[in-house]
Amino acid sequence: MDYAALYRRSVDDRDAFWREQAARIDWHTPFDLVCDTANPPFAQWFVGGETNLCHNAVDRHAATQPDQPALIHVSTETGREETLTFGQLHTEVQRMAAVLQGLGVTKGDRVLLYMPMIPEAVIAMLATVRLGAIHSVVFGGFASHALASRIDDARPTVVVTADAGSRGGKVIPYKPLLDEALAQCSHSVPHVLLINRGLAEASMTAPRDVDFAQAREAVLDAQVPCTWVPSEHPSYTLYTSGTTGKPKGVQRDTGGYTVALATSMAQIYCGKPGEVFFCTSDIGWVVGHSYIVYGPLIAGMATIVYEGLPIRPDAAIWWSLVEKYKVSVMFSAPTAVRVLKKQDPECLRRHDLSSLRHLFLAGEPLDEPTAAWIGEAIGKPIVDNYWQTETGWPILSLARGIDPDAKTRLGSPGIPMPGYDVKLLDDQTGAELTEPNRKGVLTIGYPLPPGCLQTVWGDDDRYVKTYWSTFPHKPVYNTFDWGLRDADGYYFILGRTDDVINVAGHRLGTREIEEAVSSHAGVAEVAVVGVADQLKGQVARAFVVARDPSRTASPALRQALEAEIMQTVDRQLGAVARPARVDFVNVLPKTRSGKLLRRAIQAVCEGRATGDLTTIEDPTALQQLQDAVSEVR
Ligand code: ATP
Ligand code: MG
Repeated sequence: MDYAALYRRSVDDRDAFWREQAARIDWHTPFDLVCDTANPPFAQWFVGGETNLCHNAVDRHAATQPDQPALIHVSTETGREETLTFGQLHTEVQRMAAVLQGLGVTKGDRVLLYMPMIPEAVIAMLATVRLGAIHSVVFGGFASHALASRIDDARPTVVVTADAGSRGGKVIPYKPLLDEALAQCSHSVPHVLLINRGLAEASMTAPRDVDFAQAREAVLDAQVPCTWVPSEHPSYTLYTSGTTGKPKGVQRDTGGYTVALATSMAQIYCGKPGEVFFCTSDIGWVVGHSYIVYGPLIAGMATIVYEGLPIRPDAAIWWSLVEKYKVSVMFSAPTAVRVLKKQDPECLRRHDLSSLRHLFLAGEPLDEPTAAWIGEAIGKPIVDNYWQTETGWPILSLARGIDPDAKTRLGSPGIPMPGYDVKLLDDQTGAELTEPNRKGVLTIGYPLPPGCLQTVWGDDDRYVKTYWSTFPHKPVYNTFDWGLRDADGYYFILGRTDDVINVAGHRLGTREIEEAVSSHAGVAEVAVVGVADQLKGQVARAFVVARDPSRTASPALRQALEAEIMQTVDRQLGAVARPARVDFVNVLPKTRSGKLLRRAIQAVCEGRATGDLTTIEDPTALQQLQDAVSEVR
């Protein structure tokens, strides 16, 4: 089919297009209005309709294919490995729903999850939306302070947690952190539901804390029907990664999200009922919400819920799962691929990957060397996709479900997906840039398609001010990313709009300089930031993780590698883009979702306080950076 025509229709004949897509899901009550645009920039989808997310993900498949696998759990941490069919998942979700109901959860209440990657986490999400309640999953790696602020924001009736998670064989207690958080926050949480895995000591405070295994025993025969909710009823809230500042609480609806995911599974991810989908993210992130939990299940696929590292017991673990479970679609992140890249590529060739059709990657820029390396190593098409916590599903990608021959272009995440009226605007004037190869702010015209955020939880003002007020004369949503469209319509993401360096009047994207630096064969990873400079206003500084640590073992060696890297940048971008200094570290400061914490790096370089660091992966990374920065040359 002609994707260009389908896309045009999705924007120009919006209501007709989405009315058709809405038929992919079950409606308890049909909607009468496709999109309510009476109150811009707000938009409500499928108004008048009633549905339920859990019904579409579980019940309708349990009715037609009860014996098909639905949830495949593999933990290389505890050795647990099990498969639940749609029928079994249906039963377990009802038991969980009965327990939550018993603890007082009803429609509109919040249920906060602080959980490792175990089936009970997915079951609790499904059970929550089954009751018309709203889940708020807090990534299991967050410490008590971050958890407390999210508890206060969500004001949950129940917090679901586990005694512990496990990472790289190390037990990470959860319940004590939750107890600390509960002591810190001002909201008083009526109940804590504990999944006891027997990994760590978990103290129980009666009657607040309830043991799930015991409570479940009492409701084995539970039948809890789905609570039908209006299409615009919130299904969940979720925080952005906090790469650029204080995380924003994204609020998602029910009907629009379900339709959007069903559409994306067919048109972008090419998933088919009965097949297996493997997304290596975590349920604490939006990719996990959309493509570990809801997307695959809505599509009638089995989803793999994996607890463990990508390189343990060895770097072939993912590929052994692809072989064992005949995975047809896989979804991961460039950061994870870079971890694999440091291992022996022979690992990947040991397994039969014939079931696999595509590997999708998202979350951060996919640099050309990484894309080329993984494409060659597994011999499958690599499809980039660009989106945000806010949008819930891809803005840019390739619609291979519509056009199987859609060509990837290295370095580009692709073209606009259905319903996204993507526009590049001049950052100064707000004028639309229509000619190819012009760099502008990537924006989306009003209304956002179904599935995107409805508002910031509890703060409509912040929603309007943050996303819709940059270009006051145009109703456009700002992604805060720079983009460029080439003559064939492919987009390129050139970094975040607050990542521009102004060197003596030249405006340079940090991302462009990073691309140049990383094209040097000795570079494994790089971060470039702009640092205040008395003479030039700003200069670029680069922090590099060398592929071979022996090349940075002495000051002389570091100097030699630095000079080579600078020459590489000179050749590719010109001397104006050359970093003023290149420092070498073993690890870069990243968020737990694998994104570079550029603003923190910049703060260290400029001797400022680093600000909100609740989402940092490895706090020692900042110390290394500090040491490198203060090293006198
Ligand atoms: P915050 O908004 O709190 O600062 P964040 O933007 O990192 O955090 P996410 O919603 O997890 O939170 O990340 C979305 C951003 O990640 C995008 O705006 C973009 O900058 C980047 N991104 C995601 N996918 C891609 C991709 N395929 N290519 C390039 N950049 C990407
Ligand atoms: Mg963001």
